[in-house]
Formats: sequence, structure tokens, C-alpha cells
Amino acid sequence: MMSQQLQQVDDQARAFVERKHKLWIDGAGVDGAGERIAVTDPSTGAAITDFALAGKQDIDAAVAAAKAALKRSDWARISGHDRAACLYRFADLITEHASTLAQIESLDFGMPISMSRPMMGAVPAKHLRYCAGWATRLEGTTKTTPFAGTESGGVHGMTFREPVGVVGAIIPWNSPIVMAIIKLAPALACGCTVVLKPSEITPLSAEYLGELSAQAGFPPGVMNIVPGTGAEAGQALVDHPDVAKITFTGSTRAGKAIVSSVSASLTPVALELGGKAPSIVCADAKLDAAARIIASSCTSLQGQSCAAVTRVYVERPVYESFLKSLQRNLGQLKPGLSLDTATTMGPLVSKAQYDRVQSYIAAGRAAGATALEADLTLPEGEGFYVVPTIFTHTAPDMSVVTDEIFGPVVIVEAFDTLDEAITVANASPYGLFASVWTGSLDKAHLLMRSLDVGYVAVNGSGAFDAAMPFGGVKQSGWGREFGEESVTHYTRIKTVAVTYNVE
Ligand code: NDP
Repeated sequence: MMSQQLQQVDDQARAFVERKHKLWIDGAGVDGAGERIAVTDPSTGAAITDFALAGKQDIDAAVAAAKAALKRSDWARISGHDRAACLYRFADLITEHASTLAQIESLDFGMPISMSRPMMGAVPAKHLRYCAGWATRLEGTTKTTPFAGTESGGVHGMTFREPVGVVGAIIPWNSPIVMAIIKLAPALACGCTVVLKPSEITPLSAEYLGELSAQAGFPPGVMNIVPGTGAEAGQALVDHPDVAKITFTGSTRAGKAIVSSVSASLTPVALELGGKAPSIVCADAKLDAAARIIASSCTSLQGQSCAAVTRVYVERPVYESFLKSLQRNLGQLKPGLSLDTATTMGPLVSKAQYDRVQSYIAAGRAAGATALEADLTLPEGEGFYVVPTIFTHTAPDMSVVTDEIFGPVVIVEAFDTLDEAITVANASPYGLFASVWTGSLDKAHLLMRSLDVGYVAVNGSGAFDAAMPFGGVKQSGWGREFGEESVTHYTRIKTVAVTYNVE
């Protein structure tokens, strides 16, 4: 029986979802070696299609194709202009197919179509075009006065910025298209080839990207897509001796496991891991804006966002009014099916994620915190919807305070002094994102420098732009996505000394 939502997508999206799904290796669709598993629409809990998991032998084939493509197509050595041309064509194609991609993303991940349409129309293409610009700007340096040692003659020193080689990219299920592009664009711009492993929970959109990449002119093997489990496909990619770099986005737990795995090979790893973002709201802030934007942040992607604000510390004189305003804003969300254009809050991605979030909410209640549910009516049926929940009267060691829940759950507590607010905000193993709300320039500057995180938003929810570095400190990761740093870490420096007039 066709799922309720699948009947609503256009012919192109339905034809794609209903066809037999494949891995994308060496420029062609390939049947995966693993078992076929169902892909579920999280809005209804109904299976919409299935696909074969990538197994270890598929990872071996994809890495071999990526390695061969480095030489066969000379991808690493062709002019940056030619690589940029492929990235620009890829950006144009994604824009052309944005509507289909948005429908697939909403069906597969549960992102409301009111969000996935504008996102697919802008974000991936912007990111690809930004990185395309870097393809012609990866330059080495010259060193005019190197020490010549014991040799006669002079020495000219120089550096080359070279692509690292085959990149293994592992991404989670939240916003799979944007996650894929964030990894693919800079690596390809540098002349690397890529084996991308999407989560097996959201495998569909990356396959579509693989096919568009061929139309964009990327040579076979430059981009390979192998959705599979972390335990088998992810592990095989991390352990593969021909993978020169792993770039990973996901949980801190899996990030640590990957670091352990590469301790023997010393394969370099970039990690975008979890967060538990604090927000400090001072009494002199624009409270209505703060409550509105924090309500949107903590329920963005249904709370399945590493930058979602999940701990709010409010200056005591405005605590009660902020809390009421936050509750009121959460009550204005429109939960619904992901393809309904009126929906502003969709379901969680899977039954497992639903159970995980519900168990955190139950643990918070059992530990004695006060739970305030948003006044919302959830869609009936088997979808994975969770009512956004505010916790107050928490203790610092409660799991709702310490753990990344990845659902629409936020704690709100009062503070008396800025020192106290900074201390509680920093009392987390995570250090990804924070926001501060104040009308005082002095307080804004003090807070932005005092918070132990990689990104601070002042009086807003931040700008997530291809040019703005994003990443964590502490257990939120190593390295940065976006900006120059996200590009250069797919390169390595080679130093060359040329001796002249040697006798
Ligand atoms: P996981 O860490 O479980 O998985 C992320 C990806 O890694 C998936 O493709 C997964 O495969 C794979 N994987 C898991 N274990 C291993 C392993 N040992 N070796 C290789 N690959 C592995 O996270 P989720 O997919 O559940 O995503 C949610 C988490 O991601 C959140 O908890 C959040 O912390 C984090 N996240 C961080 C972001 C950031 O930018 N900092 C952004 C988005 C998410 P499989 O699906 O089969 O498990």
C-alpha cells in the first residue's frame, strides 16, 4: 500500500522513491552487498521503500574507485578552474532539482516542507559555489632565505598545498543533503576524491546527489555514495588503509570510537560532534525576541540540531516573564505531516530517536524536575512526534541538563550574577554553540569571550553561512566546517627546497 505522504509528492520525487535504490560507486548505480532494509516516513511510521546496505566489500570497491580516480582522471592535478566548473554545474543542477530534493528530504528525514524547500533552493548551491571559489585559490608560498646547510650554492624554498587523497566522509541523519554537501564541496574543491557514507536511516537523497554529480561532469570514482551502518560500512571506511582522511559528523560517542580506531593507522580525523548549547538571557535583553528565537532554536529540526539551544539561563528579575513567553511561543508551533505546507514542527527521525527522547523526558520527571509541555495537539497516527518540553527546577547532574538529547527539550533556570551564568553555561563537556541576549555592549563582549564554545551568537540564533567557520571545542569536536578552515584541512603542505649552483 502506498504511504499516505508518498501520494502527495510530485511524479519525479515519487518515481525516485519507488524505484530500486542503489549505491553509487565509480560513476554507476551498484546493488549493495548487505541486507535490504526499509526506509520509513517518520511522519506516519510507514515504510516508503527499501535499499541494500553497503557492506565491507562495497566500501572496498568505493575506496578503490576513489583511489583510481585520483590518478585516472587526474582530478587532483587538473586546473582548479576545471574542478570549480564541475562544482558550479553541480550547484546549478541541485538548484534545478531543489523541489524534488526537498520532497525527498521531507519524506526521508521528516523536515517540514516549509523549511526543506527554501533550504534546498539556497544552502547546498551556495556552499558549492563558495567552495568552487577556493579551487583556484589553494596556493603555496615561497621562502626566500632558507638556511643552506653545508651545501654550497643557494636555496629557494617553497610550499605546495596538495589534496590529502581519498576522503572518507561519514554523516548523520539530520539534514542529510546539507550534511553531504558540507563534506563533499570542500574536499572536491581541493582535488580529493570522496567516499561518502550517509546514515542508513536517511539513505535516499545522497543517491540522488550521486546521479546529479555525473551530470555535472565529475569523473567516475571522484564521488562515491555508500549508505550503510556505522558498525559495518562506517567502520570499514575508518579502517581502510587507502583512506587518507576521515571527516565525521555525528555523536561524541561515535567520534571517540573513530579516534580509537585510527590510533594504529594515525589517519587524520576531523570531528563535528554533539552540543548542549547554552543561552544567557540578561534582564536588559529584548525579551520577546529572545523567547521567540530561542523557541525556534530549541525546536529547529524538532531539536535534532547540534546547535539547538537546550539550556537557557535567565537573569532572575525577568525569569518568570521569559518562561511564559517561551511557553507561549512553543504553543504557536504547528505540528503536522512533513509534506503539509502549514507544518512548522515535524516528527523525530525514527522510532529509536523517539524512544530515546521520551526516555530523557521521563528521566527528568523521575529525577524531580518540573516539566512544562507546550500546549500543542500532535497529529494522530504512528508518526514519531514529541511535545516540546521545558524543564525547570533541575539539578546540574540530571541527564536532561548534562546530555545531548537531540529532541525538543530545553531547560530554563534563573541566574543572579554574570559570573554565575558563565560558570553554569561552561559546565558541560560540550562546547559547540552558545547564544547571549543583552542590550549592553559591555556584557555582550564580556560574555562572547567568556564562553568556552566554538561559535557565539549575540542577540540572535547565528548565521550559518559557507564563509562562517562552525565547529566545537572540548568534546564537541576537532576542526571547523565552513570558511577557509573547512577547505584547507583537506590539503597538506609539502615543503620543497631547490638548491642552485651546487658544486
Ligand atoms: P551517530 O554518531 O550514531 O552516527 C553518525 C554517523 O556515523 C552515522 O552515519 C553512523 O552510522 C556512523 N557511525 C556510528 N558509529 C560509527 C563508527 N564506530 N564508525 C564509523 N561510523 C560510525 O549519530 P546519529 O546518526 O545518531 O546523529 C545524531 C548525532 O549526531 C547527535 O547526537 C549529534 O550529537 C550529532 N550531530 C552533530 C552535528 C555537529 O555538527 N556537531 C550535526 C549533526 C549531528 P549509523 O547511522 O549506521 O549508526
